[in-house]
Amino acid sequence: MANHLTLKEKKKRREELHEKRNEEMTEETIKIYPSNWLYNAGVIGFLKVLENSGEKVEELLKDDGTVEIKRQLFERINCDEMYFSENKVSSIVGKSLLYRNYIQSGWKDGFKEFVKEMSHVEEINKCSLCGGGWLLSEDRKNRLVQTYQYMEKFFDGIERFAMRSNALLGPSEGEFPNAFWNLNSSFPVCHLCAYLMIHHHIPFESAKTQDGQIFINAPSFKMMWYLNKYASEILNKRRSYQLKQILGISFMELAQKVFTTISVWSMMNIEMVIESYNKVKKKMEIDYYSLPYNISRLLLNKNIASLISETKEDYILEIVLNGRFDSLLTLNHKVIRYIVTNSDPDKDKSLSRLKRKDNQNLKNLSQILPELYVKIDSILKER
Ligand SMILES: [Zn+2]
Repeated sequence: MANHLTLKEKKKRREELHEKRNEEMTEETIKIYPSNWLYNAGVIGFLKVLENSGEKVEELLKDDGTVEIKRQLFERINCDEMYFSENKVSSIVGKSLLYRNYIQSGWKDGFKEFVKEMSHVEEINKCSLCGGGWLLSEDRKNRLVQTYQYMEKFFDGIERFAMRSNALLGPSEGEFPNAFWNLNSSFPVCHLCAYLMIHHHIPFESAKTQDGQIFINAPSFKMMWYLNKYASEILNKRRSYQLKQILGISFMELAQKVFTTISVWSMMNIEMVIESYNKVKKKMEIDYYSLPYNISRLLLNKNIASLISETKEDYILEIVLNGRFDSLLTLNHKVIRYIVTNSDPDKDKSLSRLKRKDNQNLKNLSQILPELYVKIDSILKER
């Protein structure tokens, strides 16, 4: 009878098939959305570890800001290497500093099964950390507990936010020692979050500044992935960069290397989280830093970012970061005057800030500066 289907019916069948296939495809992945910075840092840390073990992480990062983690990926994770070897990425056994008593030394086999089981989590809607949530079904959980009795204790511990999720921010007995979370001292955490959380220190540890270790938080995992990668590369070159410069240069790299349309809302919600140790109070402290919106949108503009990079002068970025755009024109006059009169550049306060003062570079600069000024001006006039 199939031959007698009308065109309309055929079309409908095709659509149904297509829909079904789409459904199956999305079921193969776990789609997660950006949430608070602690959770986001956990996801980025986890992705970094995956990349180091050969996974193609960039393919998981979607333009809409989400990450789609392939379910079978959890079955490939080598727990012995990642959590129990000399080169472990996270220290989770017993009295570890950050993830205190996450598991006990005898719980390794159960934990390994738990990680594999992550490929079967089901979507729920009650996790306070990620806003949505992914849980193992009661069946699967019970089966784990039957095989490894201690897993009952394990689940009891991870299903709420506490010291074991984060010794820095998690509440200790009966108190809530931090002002960062506008939430109850003990709130429900889903199984996937409980697992991702033990990677949150990873991006922080690879970006150490003189003010503390940092994580760049944004409303998109794709943006966070690249911004934090650039920040850590910048800091590997020079530890002494200021927070402002680190954010600024990371923005310019993102604009030039990753083509991505960034909404106003996203731009306004990029912030740096700084973890530092207060020696007087003897405890870790959290601070936040962000660039003014106007400066952010300039540096996240591809044209402007390329022009600033072309100058190869830190001083030009400094002028833009400080919002002193007229100084670009003043500097340009001085550059031209210097080329013509050949006077001593070091006698001038702003000229002396340039690293390279040979004629070729100055001529180059005198072409870029007016163009840069005009582009900045036109962007700032856009609403
Ligand atoms: Zn969650």
